[in-house]
Amino acid sequence: MNLEADVCIVGAGPGGALLGYLLAKKGISTIVLERHVGIDKEFRGEHLNQDGEQVLKKHGLYEQVEAAGLLLMERVEYWQHGRVIKTVTPGAGEQHVGIHVPQKKLLSAIIGASEHYQDYKLMMGTKVTELLFNETGSVTGLKAMNGEQEVTIKSKIVVGADGRFSTVRKLAEIPFSKTTHGYDLLWAKIRSPHNWEPTIKNALVNGQQLALFTQAGGFIQFGWNIEEDSYPTLKKQSCAPFIEQAIEAFPELAESIRSQIQSWDDFILLKVQSSHSPTWVKDGVLIMGDAAHTMTPTGAFGINLSLLDADVLADVLSEALDKQNFSTAQLKGFEEARRAHTEKLQEQQRVKEMTYQDNFAEPILS
Ligand SMILES: Cc1cc2nc3c(=O)[nH]c(=O)nc-3n(C[C@H](O)[C@H](O)[C@H](O)COP(=O)(O)OP(=O)(O)OC[C@H]3O[C@@H](n4cnc5c(N)ncnc54)[C@H](O)[C@@H]3O)c2cc1C
Repeated sequence: MNLEADVCIVGAGPGGALLGYLLAKKGISTIVLERHVGIDKEFRGEHLNQDGEQVLKKHGLYEQVEAAGLLLMERVEYWQHGRVIKTVTPGAGEQHVGIHVPQKKLLSAIIGASEHYQDYKLMMGTKVTELLFNETGSVTGLKAMNGEQEVTIKSKIVVGADGRFSTVRKLAEIPFSKTTHGYDLLWAKIRSPHNWEPTIKNALVNGQQLALFTQAGGFIQFGWNIEEDSYPTLKKQSCAPFIEQAIEAFPELAESIRSQIQSWDDFILLKVQSSHSPTWVKDGVLIMGDAAHTMTPTGAFGINLSLLDADVLADVLSEALDKQNFSTAQLKGFEEARRAHTEKLQEQQRVKEMTYQDNFAEPILS
């Protein structure tokens, strides 16, 4: 199959999906490739902050996501010895301390809005395999596999929005360095008890963060930070003492935890890493979101940054297409606009991770 588009985006995560929508809205012919067959894919964090909310509002998408179902967080609490020792409430003029948006609903709303545009094509179950280059080394499209079928797409620009293991980054030979953060994350999900308030709760367990996120639809997500690479050893032991630590931290959930988290099969392991690339742009190709700057879960910044990237990149690509200039120099405006903010937040993540215990140092007993 041979196709042509102005822009080909690889990856329909939050960043790629939003970029596809914004380009299609501008009348730019856009093909989005997603390796998964459905959007209900692997589980990730799903909390948005004010930045992500503002981007969705700016582009008229917030109402659709809201209609699909989201949950506003009322406060963040820090718990010690079964009691709240510190509470963070919304700042002046703010309605919440974050929003839980199930990723399936976020992506469905964005993709649903995109499909109204004639120049938009989404190809699910399609995995990029090769980049196409012209004689001067500029990227001019890609090859992908849609099931057993090879697809060749000629495009003026290829965008790698394909996440932390980005294939586009690798095929374009854009260097990156990976940093691990000394911890991995174990997640488990329970149904929330009746009348549970929308909150994020934090505790300190064995010197590590145990966080609890209320989710839309009546769920609570637990996130246990565990020492990096320790899960195989941990899994050889009984999980009962591990679960008891969560009960000790949040006694009001004792019954729900005991009845719904009973074996290691109830946990999902998420490996934590961040990344840095010295450039995000080459002639005819660029990377965005986690492909350009993988974020750790700390502070729940990653989705928001991908949405912000898409917001800026849509204008940069539109200008490049107007000028028919797809050189590194022309596309670099994207990186210039976004790199400093991103690196500042990556640094904030490192600081938050190193100082997490300080939240429990001088408890103000309520
Ligand atoms: C445990 C954990 C919890 C987190 N919690 C939060 C949170 O609460 N809030 C927050 O803001 N951030 C959170 N993050 C970070 C957030 O998940 C990422 O920063 C965000 O998903 C990045 O969005 P993206 O669109 O750039 O990439 P991704 O969401 O990774 O999307 C990339 C897409 O590309 C597709 N793809 C990959 N390779 C190919 C290929 N070869 N061909 C075609 N398609 C391909 C993938 O299937 C995927 O759909 C968390 C991260 C982790 C690890």
